Amino acid sequence: TMRDTRTAADAPAPRDGGRVKVLFPLPLYKAYDYLAETSAGLAPGVWVRARFGPNRLVGVVWPAREDEEPAVEPAKLKPIEAALDAPPLAPAVMDFVDWVAAYTMFPRGSVLRLVMRSGDALAPPEGLVGYRPAGARPARMTPQREAVLAAAEGGVLSARALAAKAGASESVVRALAAAGALAPEPIDPDPPFPAPDPDRPGKALSPEQQAAARRLIDLIAREKPRPVLLDGVTGAGKTEVYLEAVAAALRAAPDAQALVMLPEIALTLPFLKRIAERFGAEPAAWHSDLGAAQRRRVWRRVLDGSARLVVGARSALFLPYRNLRLIVVDEEHEAAYKQEDGVIYQARDMAVARGALGRFPVVLASATPSLETVVNVDQGRYEMARLEARYGGARLPDIALVDMRREPPEPGRWLSPPLAQGVDEALAAGGQALLFLNRRGYAPLTICRRCGSRMKAPDSDTWLVEHRFENRLVCHHTGFSMPKPEACPVCNAVGALVACGPGVERVAEEAAERWPQARRAVLSSDAAGPAQIRAILDAMRDGEIDILIATQLVAKGHHFPNLVFVGVVDADMGLAGGDLRAAERTYQLLSQVAGRAGRAERPGRALLQSFSPDAPVLQALASGDRDLFLAAEAESRRLTGSPPYGRFAAILLRSRNEALLKEAAERHRAAVPRADGAEVWGPAPAPIYRLRGETRMRFLVKTRRDIDIQAYVRTWLKRARLPGAVRRVVDIDPYTF
Ligand code: ADP
Repeated sequence: TMRDTRTAADAPAPRDGGRVKVLFPLPLYKAYDYLAETSAGLAPGVWVRARFGPNRLVGVVWPAREDEEPAVEPAKLKPIEAALDAPPLAPAVMDFVDWVAAYTMFPRGSVLRLVMRSGDALAPPEGLVGYRPAGARPARMTPQREAVLAAAEGGVLSARALAAKAGASESVVRALAAAGALAPEPIDPDPPFPAPDPDRPGKALSPEQQAAARRLIDLIAREKPRPVLLDGVTGAGKTEVYLEAVAAALRAAPDAQALVMLPEIALTLPFLKRIAERFGAEPAAWHSDLGAAQRRRVWRRVLDGSARLVVGARSALFLPYRNLRLIVVDEEHEAAYKQEDGVIYQARDMAVARGALGRFPVVLASATPSLETVVNVDQGRYEMARLEARYGGARLPDIALVDMRREPPEPGRWLSPPLAQGVDEALAAGGQALLFLNRRGYAPLTICRRCGSRMKAPDSDTWLVEHRFENRLVCHHTGFSMPKPEACPVCNAVGALVACGPGVERVAEEAAERWPQARRAVLSSDAAGPAQIRAILDAMRDGEIDILIATQLVAKGHHFPNLVFVGVVDADMGLAGGDLRAAERTYQLLSQVAGRAGRAERPGRALLQSFSPDAPVLQALASGDRDLFLAAEAESRRLTGSPPYGRFAAILLRSRNEALLKEAAERHRAAVPRADGAEVWGPAPAPIYRLRGETRMRFLVKTRRDIDIQAYVRTWLKRARLPGAVRRVVDIDPYTF
């Protein structure tokens, strides 16, 4: 499935009378022909401005590909209006855009748009002025003036920054400038990032860590490096090990860049500080919480190569690196790496492709690696480095099951006696406890006691979830919400609506009753925003919380040194439903959550409440036999031809017009090409049939591993006409079924 695009990207600039291809960040499959000012043309990668339809847009001169249709006559070509004064896009980035587009079947221009996300980055604000001391001292000096002059000694700063640093007002700065004591000087609005120093000594590594680090570094030095799995239990010290690999990559060339990818929410201040400590400089952080100015600064500095170490969420993969030499994908098994909106992609898999195109290694780190990665190691496509023990002799938590049929909670409560006792003991020992339930809100279902109706969202087939703190009913799929009604909207019975089942808010309510003296906090994505989530995680780490009640936000790579007890309220939850990866994800999630407990000084314990404690996944968790579980899981996937032994693609059709949707689905069914080793299931109603007023049908394509699933899908979709009122989305390697 991988198209070889290297030769085209390596080709010299076109000499065809100044004709060049330009790709725009729009949902377009192809690059368009333009005429450059000089007959030598413009080299691929150069940023240009040109007219496109009625608009004037910024695009990129794109390498000409052989398979593209013959070009328009030179006389009809529109000129490029300007080549922009910015470092060109590196060939590897352009290859990557083409590769991702071919793999995901999204338009090339849409993928380029991921690269150009920071829209104004190519035209930073101009005319910013800073000040430096000019030597002269005004006759009249005040303490404020003294402070500003002293602050200006440190380097050129804007009036605002200077005033803030000196604790004075901006008018003091202006007065000093008017008096000739400060001289104006143009400044760049996006200061460069300080260079990381790979030779700064890191933490002294244990012999096991040293061996793993050496192995990573050896693999990096290879001519054609392969991806490598860094496998080690939570707390094994994987971070320190992969930071050595980062150091080696940065050392390899003066302009080498490295990227450490994390699931979004793990991007906490402590993590950035930890990296800063190792390299003596803050890395460039890239995540959805950045303001426009920070975003622009990172983008520009990655493009000009001066930001050499980036720590970012999945979209950091699409930054315009000049010379990327290493990617680390931490918590590689995380489902958060799957991007489900816009261009649909799996960031871990795309990172591996990026490494292959750029000929650099990719380190995949996890305590519970994905089955895909484990199979790649077994089959010799990936290398592996392993850490067997926890760092500093810390022990893995004891995991045990609570059989809810034998030890049920009291009526109206959700914590069984053993779970409550676990919290009691943790608190008595001065430790922290975590209660885990992967369900937001107060209760998953709200039902009328009189007529039995379930509260449903008005334009979707989704249940409304009660959020008691706000007294609202909320749809977790669309964000729709309404005040909780007094009376049942169906039968009008007053006071008959009852909450069924627990969410984190309900567990928090029970915790408040049981442990009123304890400091408690709820962590879920209902928090005010990423900053609040990080604040709660930091407070937990610093021991300012006794009992944390949390959803899966807590699972991702955080260190809580004083956490000694983890109670999983509903270990059966992830096992229901038709998800291919249900068992695998339950294993990963619960062992990650349990792994938060027990650090160097304090052993930890985890209890999982279950109504089906005999389920193989739960047994594997309790016995700690990960490899046995993975082997069984791999075997069942192999027998069914599921990924990674076969390929899947999902095709979603959606429309506001249900009749047209059904007709289009039938037409797609009729157009399915016959091919050996490929089959198409469906159409079937999507898992949520009605969403935001649209109805949705799905097909699942399943092929053998040796079949080019993209080519098969392309052949099929070309044959099936799509009415304008029906939208179609292709999802290669779908996660939800
Ligand atoms: P993992 O990523 O494998 O879960 P970490 O790299 O976060 O584990 O390490 C776990 C804990 O041990 C962290 O608090 C870390 O600071 C500490 N640690 C790991 N290696 C060392 C070392 N060589 N020296 C000192 N502390 C270490």
